[in-house]
Amino acid sequence: MDCLFCKIAEGKIPSKKIFEDDRVLAFHDINPQAPVHFLVIPKKHIATLNDMTEDDCELVGHMTYVAQRLALELGCEGGFRTVFNCKEMGSQTVYHIHLHVLGQRQMGWPPG
Ligand code: C5P
Repeated sequence: MDCLFCKIAEGKIPSKKIFEDDRVLAFHDINPQAPVHFLVIPKKHIATLNDMTEDDCELVGHMTYVAQRLALELGCEGGFRTVFNCKEMGSQTVYHIHLHVLGQRQMGWPPG
């Protein structure tokens, strides 16, 4: 399968890794939109949030927990933004789910 984030998860394409365990990888976004901007991805290929099944609930919950732990480690105790972009209307560009974590600047609402 020709998936960029599968290749990053397998170490075939380099990334600025922050954390890895048997289920997920976290790395700094290559084009950061905030002083802290990293992605948490599952090692399992799931193309979009719409492709998630009930069996993936524990995995996605783990992604969220890892995001929160790392955000705190990276100095975002004052708060941060998490985002899953889903498909075209959600501005998803890489079709392997990833949880964006953005912090260390004031976020606005509504998002663009
Ligand atoms: O949610 P969306 O699919 O638009 O986000 C993809 C993200 O992956 C972008 O923020 C982009 O900068 C990031 N990216 C990356 N490393 C790559 C390719 C894309 O961090 N090699």
